[in-house]
Amino acid sequence: MRSSTLKSIYQCKCPRCHKGDMFLRGKLFNPAKFSIMNKSCAHCGQSFEPEPGYYFGAMFVSYGINTALFITAWVALSVLKPDYSLSLLLSLLGITVLIFLPFIYRVSRAIWIAIFISYKGEDIPSSS
Ligand SMILES: [Zn+2]
Repeated sequence: MRSSTLKSIYQCKCPRCHKGDMFLRGKLFNPAKFSIMNKSCAHCGQSFEPEPGYYFGAMFVSYGINTALFITAWVALSVLKPDYSLSLLLSLLGITVLIFLPFIYRVSRAIWIAIFISYKGEDIPSSS
């Protein structure tokens, strides 16, 4: 996998041209707007929802990321406070999920679409 693909996933850019934004810019921490997706790429015209229910599989990507995040938080708590209580652990996990939810939501969709749509270069003509 090319490094520009990883960067485009992290930045939630179009998987085909790595230029257009998949989501509304600057709304990552807006609870009402972080999940709003652009219909298609403004640069190359790639549809971001090729078929209904396309992002069902992104739930499994999200599940994997959240599991890794939970294990990281659990290990960090075990190291920093070995005599932690269950309620402290659950509170920490809840706060961690809330903080990372918008980012994980977007990145799981970006990973999912990047699995099926490959990079074609920046200067491809619009497909629409
Ligand atoms: Zn594009």
